[in-house]
Amino acid sequence: MSVMPNTVLIIGDSAESRKVVAGILESTGIFQNKLYCADGRRALHWLRDHAIDMVCCNLHEQNRDALDILINEMQGESEWVDLPVVFFAQPEDRDLLIEGLESGASEGLLVDVETAEIAARIRRHLKNRQRIQALHQAQSRLARMALSDSLTGLFNRAYFDASIEQESARSLRSKNPLSLLFIDLDFFKKINDTHGHQTGDLVLEKVAQVLREQSRSSDTVCRYGGEEFAIILPETPRSHAQMVAERIRRKVSVLDLGFAVTASIGINCAERPEGLVPKVLIAGADEALYAAKRNGRNRCEIAGKPAVHFPDLSFIYPFKQAAATA
Ligand code: GH3
Ligand code: MG
Ligand code: MG
Repeated sequence: MSVMPNTVLIIGDSAESRKVVAGILESTGIFQNKLYCADGRRALHWLRDHAIDMVCCNLHEQNRDALDILINEMQGESEWVDLPVVFFAQPEDRDLLIEGLESGASEGLLVDVETAEIAARIRRHLKNRQRIQALHQAQSRLARMALSDSLTGLFNRAYFDASIEQESARSLRSKNPLSLLFIDLDFFKKINDTHGHQTGDLVLEKVAQVLREQSRSSDTVCRYGGEEFAIILPETPRSHAQMVAERIRRKVSVLDLGFAVTASIGINCAERPEGLVPKVLIAGADEALYAAKRNGRNRCEIAGKPAVHFPDLSFIYPFKQAAATA
């Protein structure tokens, strides 16, 4: 048996019908908490506000349609789709139970079935639910792992690649500026060589923390690879991107690690994003980063050219020439 308190929501349109179900469940001893409501609509409120492990309904001719609607609603919500729904019915309503199962109930039980059988069936549904929940958790853990960098917890390169495409498209639509920072640690190989790889890793973690602290929740902070990081800043004009970059540069340079750590930063901004191409935005930030390295490191440089791609118009020249010589 699970150590979690099992909570059941009992639906029945009269106090009497709720009591019948409650009595059956009581004799199984499975549920620590019972909640009650009269119909499917109210059941949705309970489901929204409480952690419920199972829904049990007393089914009869008058409430079958309402329960059908409830099941439909539950199947449309990812949170509820795996929540077991058990219908109870009087022996003469056996047909209704079968219909209920057809329309998506997890289990249909006649109220005169032996308690041991009811208990066994309910336990099996609760166990299934736990298994499904564990699977969902594992799945989202894996999804997170696939997108994040295990050392720093930042997004990884794969996420960056997807995100820069998405943010560029968004920026084109909204006509808001989009900025990009490339951050590369200076002489990091020497830090590794002098202080060891583990200390190098610690530096990467500390720098990642600075990047997280200095950016907004709408920014995407990534480990681009090795000792190189990238930050995508949506709705951020050139001047603001420069300010952020300078703040990051300074915060990294004052990290208290017992030795100096500095970073060079390349900035690129599509102020007016018409014609924005992610590849061009990236290339500009990369060039700016190399300029920062060339110009002495521990500094920020901004790309001069706008991050837009002008269409290749060279095909026009022969016509121009032809016109000139005509
Ligand atoms: P520059 O100022 O020109 O950027 O010099 P640099 O030494 O930082 O650049 P280089 O590309 O020569 O060296 C990068 C180093 O980063 C080499 C590599 O061993 C180290 N590195 C890459 N990934 C990791 C990591 O995950 N952990 C540690 N500790 N070091 C890493
Ligand atoms: Mg470096
Ligand atoms: Mg590098």
